[in-house]
Amino acid sequence: MAKAARVKKSKSARKLHSRNVVQRKNTSLPMSVFDNVMKQFDAAARKLKLDKSLLEFIKVPRRSTIVKLPVRMDDGSYKMFTGYRVQHSIARGPAKGGVRFHPDVSLDEVQALAAWMTWKCAVVNIPFGGGKGGIICDPQKMSEGELERLTRRYVADLIDIFGPDNDIPAPDVGTGPKVMSWFMDTYSMKDYHAVPSVVTGKPITLGGSLGRSEATGRGVMLSVREAAKYLKLDLTKATGSVQGFGNVGSVSAYLLQDLGVKFTHVSDVTGAIYNPDGIDIYALVKHVAETKSVLGFPGARKVRPNDVLYAKVDILIPAALENQITATNAHRVRAKIVAEGANGPTTPEADTILNKNGVLVIPDILCNAGGVTVSYFEWVQNRIGYFWSEEEVNRRLEEKMVAAFHDVLRTSKENRTSLRIGAFMLAITRVIEVVHLRGIYS
Ligand code: NAD
Repeated sequence: MAKAARVKKSKSARKLHSRNVVQRKNTSLPMSVFDNVMKQFDAAARKLKLDKSLLEFIKVPRRSTIVKLPVRMDDGSYKMFTGYRVQHSIARGPAKGGVRFHPDVSLDEVQALAAWMTWKCAVVNIPFGGGKGGIICDPQKMSEGELERLTRRYVADLIDIFGPDNDIPAPDVGTGPKVMSWFMDTYSMKDYHAVPSVVTGKPITLGGSLGRSEATGRGVMLSVREAAKYLKLDLTKATGSVQGFGNVGSVSAYLLQDLGVKFTHVSDVTGAIYNPDGIDIYALVKHVAETKSVLGFPGARKVRPNDVLYAKVDILIPAALENQITATNAHRVRAKIVAEGANGPTTPEADTILNKNGVLVIPDILCNAGGVTVSYFEWVQNRIGYFWSEEEVNRRLEEKMVAAFHDVLRTSKENRTSLRIGAFMLAITRVIEVVHLRGIYS
């Protein structure tokens, strides 16, 4: 390929994958998020020494659907959107996973997120497989009416795929309880009665679960608490840094602050702030609700966004996007614990560097599994038609997260490997066990 064409191709590839793909070191080839999950799977599979054809069967997505969605815009024109739904696994139960509305959504990203859902559900031992969906769109630039029509058209086109026993979506980046309400309503038209259990993350009055909005952050807090006990790190003397101050980042930070952790660095998409004496996370939540930015928070000064990743703190929580800690910057991470609130914030190459440097990485498929765990509780409550108190939900979540943390820790120790590979080994073993019993229909 001519040099000019090569440069042009790599530029357009960069643009296309600006968020979920980073460049490979020393090459112009983009590195996909899906490649990252496959590498993580392969590293664990090699240690398990299982039947290769069975591993191949559970490794790749079972079904990936692409839909083209015509939507009437407010100005009367029609615009075509592209939507995806991927069912990575339905071996242990219905496919489970969120729907993302974002301009950078791609099939590669949705497949990766669907695969992580399979392994996450198996790590916390809930009877779900893995799925994920997404629509390429910019919800910030769409009216509520346009978003509602887009959501309803997406559900209508995929109505035979979804269902409480088949595939159960939830919110992800760019979607929330309102989108889930439209989702549930559109699906319910099919059977002419309300079907709340077809989605989770609904408003409480529509059958949502108490504790769901804080569940992912609570799971991060519980994972960090268990990791700190293991490392004999006193949380009342610990410091922290958080990248991304949305649902996961803010809740993780205030619950850890409740345990005594002092957060010195916080960032969001608008920038990063620093205060060596500690940032009051509850006050920052209020500030962000009012100003839509962490910047300008009294007592803190503005720093470079990446200072948050390189801060000399005990606990770093990446809670924004994929591919943030890579081969090029992993050596600059100085935290003792990296708690992955986001999905896929660390590339496999960066993982190797962090492990070599003695950083304990609590992998996403364990660390942020609190959200899907309470989604499972929501589904259970919808099906039994009886709702638990918030204390009950939090108690059950703690039980699941603590058990999962120690299952992963034990597997990692027994196999002398990282928590990530331990988590994958545990999850793969649990999925394979079911596949063995069910057999493969061919
Ligand atoms: P969110 O939209 O509520 O928050 C995202 C935050 O990241 C925002 O504060 C945004 O400003 C910030 N951000 C975006 N780009 C950034 C950048 N370049 N640098 C710093 N900050 C940036 O989303 P969320 O629900 O908190 O999800 C965050 C991550 O956690 C995603 O990877 C998501 O898949 C994962 N996750 C979420 C849940 C859940 O229940 N919400 C569960 C599991 C995993």
